[in-house]
Amino acid sequence: MRQAWGGHPELLIQWATSADSRKHTDSLEAPRHYLDVDDLPVSLADGLPIVWGLPHDLADSLTSTSKDGGLGSFGLLPWHIERVYNQLTWSMKSDSVDLNRVLRLAADLGHYLGDAHVPLHTSGNYDGQRTGQRGIHALWETHAMEWLLAPSRASSCPCTPLPSFDPRWTAWEILDESHAMVPMVLHAETELRRLHPEDGWGFRRRGRTLQLLPTPEALATWDSLTNHTTFPRFCKASHRIAAAWYAAWMDAGAPNLASPAGPTNHGFWAYLAEVVRALRLKFKVFNLRLKATSNLELQPYDDDTPETDFEHLHP
Ligand SMILES: [Zn+2]
Repeated sequence: MRQAWGGHPELLIQWATSADSRKHTDSLEAPRHYLDVDDLPVSLADGLPIVWGLPHDLADSLTSTSKDGGLGSFGLLPWHIERVYNQLTWSMKSDSVDLNRVLRLAADLGHYLGDAHVPLHTSGNYDGQRTGQRGIHALWETHAMEWLLAPSRASSCPCTPLPSFDPRWTAWEILDESHAMVPMVLHAETELRRLHPEDGWGFRRRGRTLQLLPTPEALATWDSLTNHTTFPRFCKASHRIAAAWYAAWMDAGAPNLASPAGPTNHGFWAYLAEVVRALRLKFKVFNLRLKATSNLELQPYDDDTPETDFEHLHP
């Protein structure tokens, strides 16, 4: 499949965060990244959220009659995963395949699947704002992931057979797993504050900026308090993304999309679009760091600053 897609993984990496960048320009984008499972109306018969596993139209009509006013207020993540999967399949079936479009859709699908594996993308208390735990979102998906993915740790996911992927049901299965982790994650953060009341945060120099981040000691405690579940969750997300791409490609008839020229990412307008995207992302990261709340996505840890550069906030 790698060869059939043109053998250009760098574009998948480059576009992995495009879905987040679109939140700044498309008002419909934000709800596609989460589902507030605990805020959904519950069926009186079995206590499960009334929309669980339902097609989008039916789910929307059920929630539109509730006082909260439609699916958009709870999030659209599982339905959007199914939608992008179908778009990806159709894009590969097309008579004149646009490889750039295929790779963009594959990157988006990977992004939304990654979000679905993050426990706090399944809760209305997504940044601990209801329980006095602001910043927990970035702690799980940014700070802890960066610490776990640091090159010095040389962590790698186990090689396992590709899991099965169903465009409708797998998304619900993932959300079920993620939401079950929410109480444990909230409890771990409370314990982390108790164990590191003063030495949990410190300044770290990265290039020319000084960032306020959890200390490596606090992150080690956090990993222990969360029962070392974060890295396996990352691996599970990676395997499911691979499975989704493979399933979509098979559903499209396993076409060979590679052209001798490869995907086109050159030319002035493509360059300009990427510059604007990068600036937007940089601005967003800056703002989020300032607020100490974040909706950042899984990103590889790209600096391996020695831990001696870390200055504790309360030495
Ligand atoms: Zn996202």
